[in-house]
Amino acid sequence: MAMQCADFLVIGGGIAGLSAAARLTLSGNVTVIEAETALGYHSSGRSATFCHYGIGNATVRGLTSFSRAFFQEPPAGFSDYPLAKSKSALFIATEAMLPTLAELATSMRRFTDTISEVDEAGMLELVPVLRTGQDAIIAGVVDSSGLKLDTDALMQGYARIVRRGGGTIINGQRVGGIHRSDGLWQVTTADGSSHAAPILVNAAGAWADQLAALAGVRPLGLEPKRRTMIVIDPPAGMAVNDWPFTKTATDDFYMLPDSGRLMASPVDEVPSEPCDAQPEEYDLALAAWQAEQYTTLPVVRIAHRWAGLRSFVADRVPTAGFAPDAPGFFWLAGQGGYGIQTAPAMAAISAALITGGDWPKELTALGVTPAKILPDRLLG
Ligand SMILES: Cc1cc2nc3c(=O)[nH]c(=O)nc-3n(C[C@H](O)[C@H](O)[C@H](O)COP(=O)(O)OP(=O)(O)OC[C@H]3O[C@@H](n4cnc5c(N)ncnc54)[C@H](O)[C@@H]3O)c2cc1C
Repeated sequence: MAMQCADFLVIGGGIAGLSAAARLTLSGNVTVIEAETALGYHSSGRSATFCHYGIGNATVRGLTSFSRAFFQEPPAGFSDYPLAKSKSALFIATEAMLPTLAELATSMRRFTDTISEVDEAGMLELVPVLRTGQDAIIAGVVDSSGLKLDTDALMQGYARIVRRGGGTIINGQRVGGIHRSDGLWQVTTADGSSHAAPILVNAAGAWADQLAALAGVRPLGLEPKRRTMIVIDPPAGMAVNDWPFTKTATDDFYMLPDSGRLMASPVDEVPSEPCDAQPEEYDLALAAWQAEQYTTLPVVRIAHRWAGLRSFVADRVPTAGFAPDAPGFFWLAGQGGYGIQTAPAMAAISAALITGGDWPKELTALGVTPAKILPDRLLG
């Protein structure tokens, strides 16, 4: 089979690969190769689809802050549906969690003026089923700037830009071989076809280190961690859609409404190999137990369940940049638990670094500098 040549090869059709590919379409011919038949089959299709300042460190908050404008005002024609709907985030604390709640509020206030404290009565107004009082939730902080995202619309929008820009998205083809010769990265896929480009973007999610190994590139030390979600029915007649995203300050439980039901997670982080993650009985039981601890909801039945991988490097900050040990090999990995809400920023960074453009000034102003994002920081 003849080798197909492009300017940029993007391996991975999740949010990271598609968002970067859409930006690169402006600068050349892009080919995206995705192992699964559906885009976003792995982490990107399994997220809670929420965007807020209560997660990650200052660099992640900076990336989130930059990305919000895209969600709220995407380019004309990007999507027929809104990408984001306003939804507050409520962070809750028992007495033991109070110092953590205070630290969280301080960290969030550096990025937004939408943070306010809420007392027990106020919390119950927002989420009437919260278990409040002695030995339960006694304090809360609300971030009114939270956004419920439509990840599907986001990914379809990026994919459309790639296709309209003359790019190609190949589904159902796993890249199984990579080598560099004559200044080109050449990859072969399961059906024996070959693709080549001077620049290869490694956006393979949990598999990013394995993909690097195929190319003989030093790994970043990526650690995929499994997270479990359950969906439960509220009692008949209880309207939950206006409830905020609600999370404990110490990160052991969150829930949020989804089409009249409630999604909940025990905020588990179980080390895993890269795989098609499936929920384990223990984590499902933990999710139900935590829901009953922090709320007065009886969990009679788990209506849906799933799990996905959140992949982190050592400092838990997403990485973008050329591998110091391999010309033209570009890392876009380690999006952790915030790969959707940081995608527009990471795509802008990737496009700037790959095409020799300037680092976005707005990101520098938000404290997101190359030293915090480039892979060099991890490789010593
Ligand atoms: C339960 C859960 C809740 C989450 N909630 C949120 C949230 O509320 N907000 C948020 O911002 N983030 C959230 N996240 C995190 C977010 O989903 C991830 O950070 C993001 O999806 C990572 O995107 P990705 O493109 O890097 O990975 P993926 O979506 O996994 O994409 C990588 C792709 O690469 C492909 N691939 C791998 N190897 C090869 C190969 N050799 N050849 C071809 N293709 C290959 C895979 O098939 C895969 O489709 C959550 C994650 C989970 C699991």
